[in-house]
Amino acid sequence: MTYDAQNIFAKILRKEIPCTVLYENDFALAFHDIHPKAPIHVLVIPKGPYENAHTFYGQAPEALQVSFAKALAHVVDLLELPQGYRLIANCGLHGGQEVPHFHMHILGGHALGPMVITHA
Ligand code: AMP
Repeated sequence: MTYDAQNIFAKILRKEIPCTVLYENDFALAFHDIHPKAPIHVLVIPKGPYENAHTFYGQAPEALQVSFAKALAHVVDLLELPQGYRLIANCGLHGGQEVPHFHMHILGGHALGPMVITHA
């Protein structure tokens, strides 16, 4: 799969459409999810053309991977979630990924319940 430069997060990175920024540096952007699934729902995306976790962790320069991880940790610090939180990276069709630019969801603010609904 080739990276779709017209995906909505690519447009957000290019400042073509707005978002509610929580944190930004040279390597990552963190912003509030437009349809929050928990009291706190933030997305953290790397500044690079990677469509999912597999391509990011398989192909991105190690320096970007490390910088992204540090940015993610910093955003978690900013959110102040002493009782915990959940990280989710949906990947592909079965993962339920809607936007084909790698992103980490940070969810928190209350008890999130089971990780997934067990299939029948
Ligand atoms: P995923 O299903 O893992 O690809 O998650 C995509 C997420 O992006 C969803 O939780 C959406 O609510 C969120 N989203 C889509 N468009 C925007 C936007 N313009 N600003 C902020 N979040 C968005």
